[in-house]
Amino acid sequence: MPILVFVESAEGKIKKTSLEAVAYAHAMGGPVTAIALGAAEKSELENLGKYGAQKVLHASDEKLNQGIIQAYAEVLVKALQDENADVLVLANSSLGTPVAARVAARTGASLATNVVSLPETASGFVVKKSIYTGKAFSFVELSNKKKVIALKKNAAELKEVGGAAQVTPYTVQLPDALFAVKILSSEKATGEVLLPEANIVVSGGRGMKGPEHWGMLEGLAKTLHAATGCSKPVSDMGWRPHHEHVGQTGVKVAPQLYIAVGISGAIQHLAGVNSSKCIVVINKDAEAPFFKAADYGIVGDAFEIIPKLTEAIKAA
Ligand code: FAD
Repeated sequence: MPILVFVESAEGKIKKTSLEAVAYAHAMGGPVTAIALGAAEKSELENLGKYGAQKVLHASDEKLNQGIIQAYAEVLVKALQDENADVLVLANSSLGTPVAARVAARTGASLATNVVSLPETASGFVVKKSIYTGKAFSFVELSNKKKVIALKKNAAELKEVGGAAQVTPYTVQLPDALFAVKILSSEKATGEVLLPEANIVVSGGRGMKGPEHWGMLEGLAKTLHAATGCSKPVSDMGWRPHHEHVGQTGVKVAPQLYIAVGISGAIQHLAGVNSSKCIVVINKDAEAPFFKAADYGIVGDAFEIIPKLTEAIKAA
């Protein structure tokens, strides 16, 4: 059964979540065709072969640089037809999920988001998905012939299985009506590492006492090439911008390493971090609930620990 994988890129580089989507499709048994839309570096596209893509289509039409969901869906629906593929896999991201919904609606496909397992096919096509912000799982059967799977970050292992893939240009006629809104310009909210994409996050809570102390966390984050995050009260009080607020009502992160400094570990905060691979908690209260969710904990004063930790990492 041919599988199509939509890969996302930022500044020409393929996102790690998309590499995971390719690896997942390969683990499903492929053959895998990856498709990139808009600007992407050729070497990055060839690199998809390492994770199991036999073939890479590149729809490089400049209009596709605008992130217009309808246009992406248009191309993917056509590519599913051209590749004779019944399954589309993509990342469960802010771009991937709306694209998945549109493609599923257009093709009459069964759709599962937040998927964390390979399908069981013994009786039907059943995948496990994360629900209630990661506190539970459900098993859903995708019963239609066409299927769309939005894969949760970190749900697939990245293993190198092949060499460079052949990249083929791919062209689709895109009606002007798809581009009723034109993006004139866009810019990053910050020049630092973006929170939803970060491999490492250094996050601060009310225990940091005030915005004037954030330089310390930014120093640690810079040393680790990490993004900075915060708890909700911190952004509510205006110590940090709202886009850094992590949790049930904020950004959900899934980094390799989440360092929580002076955050108590309320359930609403944990809802945004429980897909992290490793959680390190620094809190002066040994009874802070966050320690129960931590892989490593340091009981102590953040104002003493953070500078020492930063220096130790720099020296390592
Ligand atoms: P606190 O609970 O005040 O904890 C501060 C911690 O810092 C304490 O554990 C303390 O021991 C420690 N500390 C103090 N001084 C130091 C020091 N010098 N060194 C080390 N540690 C120190 N919260 C979120 O974060 N994200 C959400 O998305 C979110 N959504 C919510 C939705 C709803 C509907 C509701 C009701 C609440 C939500 N909250 C959310 C709020 C949440 O319930 C908590 O109130 C909040 O997470 C607490 O933030 P905090 O840990 O920074 O502060």
